[in-house]
Amino acid sequence: MTEQRSILALDQGTTSSRAIVFDQAGQMVAMAQAPTTQDFPQPGWVNQDPLEIWQTQLGTALDALSRAGTAVTDVASIGITNQRETLVVWDRLTGGPVHPAIVWQSRQSAPQVEDLLARGMGPAYTHVTGLVPDAYFTATKIAWLLENVTDLRARADAGELLAGTIDSWLIWNLTGGERHITDVTNASRTMLLDLETQQWSPELLADLAIPAQMLPEIVPSSGELGMTSGDLLGAELPICGIAGDQQAALFGQCCFAPGDAKNTYGTGSFLLMNTGQRPRRSQHRLLTTIAWQRDEQTTFALEGSIFVSGSAVQWLRDGLHLIEDAAEVEALAATVASSEGVTFVPALTGLGAPHWDPTARGAILGITRGTTSAHIARATLEAIALQVRDVITAMATDSGIPLRSLRVDGGAARNDLLMQIQADLLGVPVVRPVNVETTATGAAYLAGLGCGLWRSTAELEALWRIDRTFEPGGDAAALRDIVARWDAAVS
Ligand code: ADP
Repeated sequence: MTEQRSILALDQGTTSSRAIVFDQAGQMVAMAQAPTTQDFPQPGWVNQDPLEIWQTQLGTALDALSRAGTAVTDVASIGITNQRETLVVWDRLTGGPVHPAIVWQSRQSAPQVEDLLARGMGPAYTHVTGLVPDAYFTATKIAWLLENVTDLRARADAGELLAGTIDSWLIWNLTGGERHITDVTNASRTMLLDLETQQWSPELLADLAIPAQMLPEIVPSSGELGMTSGDLLGAELPICGIAGDQQAALFGQCCFAPGDAKNTYGTGSFLLMNTGQRPRRSQHRLLTTIAWQRDEQTTFALEGSIFVSGSAVQWLRDGLHLIEDAAEVEALAATVASSEGVTFVPALTGLGAPHWDPTARGAILGITRGTTSAHIARATLEAIALQVRDVITAMATDSGIPLRSLRVDGGAARNDLLMQIQADLLGVPVVRPVNVETTATGAAYLAGLGCGLWRSTAELEALWRIDRTFEPGGDAAALRDIVARWDAAVS
């Protein structure tokens, strides 16, 4: 019998389903992708078709295997990563969804959140789950469905319905309805998981009148978690890794030690820091979340999001017409040695973590007769890096753990000047990997460890390839000046 050497990673995102085959060296061999559609039935509501999510995911899995030329019998295990918080509810017997998926972005359960806050329950939810109550999390989406869709309350009480995030929905389908599970990282985004017990909180379920029998069993992120039904992919395959997308990216960036952090520089910035084996509470409304659970040990993280990151560069392009293409910002900013006193606060849609002012508006300060587009471009890159610095500072204060390194991915991480400014402002190395498909890589790593293809995180670190490390440097006085101007401008 041949030894299986490939891992199939399924990456179910908000706008597409993707599947990637990895080899034993942790390298990507083939990828397939299919778009998924979103519906906006009312302003602020975002829905998706659960069957489209499942069918595109299965289709891309088959495509990726065929493109890789990998026999299904060569696949050691499957890893799953997914858009987090999105809710699917389906019929336990038929497997049919009873409603469109309610996507994480959807605001439709905002009234349920207002109600729990009005009842004074906000602090209890934060204490138990580590999250700041918001419509974004799964809990109030379930409450909304049970309150607003005819018959669902009665059917849920009768045990006819199952609820889950996208990982659960995919696994239930992959296992032919055998397994109704979710991993702890996905569970930690529902606003129903007790971080201490790592089980559903009976108090919070009761508070939102959610029947416990709807919910999946909570399992680790790595290990033998389920077996696919043989008719789907051509053989029964073990599912050995599951994690929500941001946690998978943290794992895929090999942020295995406390103080290791990753940032994804996309439209916004998505920061997670490994804070070790205990949940650390935030004084800055950062989210406490589970990073992963494996070998009976749970690792926690702090998470913070910044609304405007790469989109500030888009605004230079589309709003100010300073550049024609986002990548040009680097060359333009590099024509000047400093922003010469110009500070840009890109609060274009309010300020997120750790300032939390949704009414804040952007500002460009310190403009003189000598200010050019290059100074504004440079101030924009500084602003992207300064916002990351603010969140990292809050994380280090909340956790008492100093930052060790920042690993980066996302579209704007290709900008070398931005990465150097980031390293200078943080005072730690900024590390950019060769493989920027960190989310799928994380799912593959968890699956490969779970099935024994790889034995340890040390082995993964040896497989992980660095494209470039940006060492901190820069003139200390100039850096202090940038930070002081920024702090003054933000306040
Ligand atoms: P998302 O997944 O959020 O759509 P991406 O990871 O594709 O985002 O990154 C795209 C964002 O990065 C855009 O906002 C774009 O303006 C910005 N961006 C792309 N290339 C660069 C660059 N070289 N320098 C700075 N910003 C960039």
